Amino acid sequence: MGRRRAVRLAAVYAAIAIAWIAFSDGLLAWIGLSADLITRYSLLKGLAFVLLTGLALFVLVDRFSRQDAERDRMYRELFEQNPNPMWSYDLDTLAFLQVNDAAVRKYGYTRDEFMGMTIADIRPTEDLGRLMANIEVVREGAEGDVDQAGVWRHRAKDGSLLWVDITSHVTRIDGRPAEVVLVRDITEAHEAREQLLRYQADLERLISERTHQLEEANAELKEATEAKSAFLATMSHELRTPLNSILGFSRILADGRAGSLNEEQSRQIGFLRTSAEHLHALIGDVLDLSRIESGRMEVHLAESTLKEIVGAADSTVGALAAAKGLQWHRGPVPDAVMRTDARMVLQILLNLLGNAVKYTQEGAVSLSVTAGPDRVTFDVSDTGGGIPDEQRDRIFEEFVRADSGASPAEGTGLGLAIAARFARLLGGTLELESTSAEGSMFRLTLPIESADPDGEAGPA
Ligand code: ADP
Repeated sequence: MGRRRAVRLAAVYAAIAIAWIAFSDGLLAWIGLSADLITRYSLLKGLAFVLLTGLALFVLVDRFSRQDAERDRMYRELFEQNPNPMWSYDLDTLAFLQVNDAAVRKYGYTRDEFMGMTIADIRPTEDLGRLMANIEVVREGAEGDVDQAGVWRHRAKDGSLLWVDITSHVTRIDGRPAEVVLVRDITEAHEAREQLLRYQADLERLISERTHQLEEANAELKEATEAKSAFLATMSHELRTPLNSILGFSRILADGRAGSLNEEQSRQIGFLRTSAEHLHALIGDVLDLSRIESGRMEVHLAESTLKEIVGAADSTVGALAAAKGLQWHRGPVPDAVMRTDARMVLQILLNLLGNAVKYTQEGAVSLSVTAGPDRVTFDVSDTGGGIPDEQRDRIFEEFVRADSGASPAEGTGLGLAIAARFARLLGGTLELESTSAEGSMFRLTLPIESADPDGEAGPA
């Protein structure tokens, strides 16, 4: 029974006894007993009081001690059967005072072995400094203080390390300062976390290795591309000179300025010229492409009216279409002024319209131009055989030529690749809007005002 409860019981008992001594005679007289009778039975009255109060005391004390026993049992069970290891230790000597079953199971020491040890015995030596510092702090605290001591390492009997999370509180056991400790084993969680950190570190290392490799490969690629572009530029330039001679001399021969030719000779010279012109166009395209790739393609921005740009394409395409018996529809051209590289826009338009004529056997080729507040759109349509579905996505790549039906037209497969890069250099886009067996439509969209590329364009 607790001390406070015992004092209260004694006080109540004393009060009742005093009241009985002081007032019992008066009470008996009041209910009608004579003074004589009261005197005669005073001994009996005293005995009855002692018996009754003794009985009441017995009942009360018995009930209190049963409650105390029940509470003790509950606390013991809470301690003994707690699934987490628990113990108490003496704060002065650090010796274990009690340990529960879970502690015996987890640490592998018997209860007796625990009783002969201190809490320092289950720590790795390198943690002892931290332990003593923590105990100093705990000793300065008041009774009942809870200490969330955090994560520690404990050593089990078989030498294995346990990672544990400790909560404890200060108390008194047999009048001495002690601490009751609750241990939560977090070894698995800790190891999982460590493993995760290891994986993370591995991953970071791997990523940085790969990034490094990629950067190296990129640098090599850049070097190779630059070397390729430089080679192509030089070669194309060198090839042009003899080619111009071939073209010039074959023209002289064809014109009869070096003597008249018979029919067969004229035919052969014609083949020679066509091949040389084809080669000339190919070299021009390769040169353009290598200039774009190496970032040496210069963009010259200036103001031109849409009418000037479209007008320059108009007559050439009209003549080409007429020669092939195709109709040429050019829609109205808005009165807009563009700040752009007119030479590039013209080259894109000539490529698109030239292709439209080249790949259309009958019907018409059309151009429609619309101008918005900040963009101009050129739609080039034809009634040709279209581009097969499987080629659609690759049509803007270099040297890709679609299989365009029965009569294959001459070409290099570079025109669209260059046109798309030019469009990008000017801040616009070139897309194949639609294509089917009934015809195709390419859409070129350009800003009314191209951004100034500081005289030199970057790689496309
Ligand atoms: P090419 O010198 O072969 O004309 P391009 O890059 O200009 O090279 O075009 C690539 C390929 O796209 C062409 O070979 C052709 O098969 C296809 N192509 C381009 N424009 C058209 C079109 N208007 N109609 C059908 N096919 C086209």
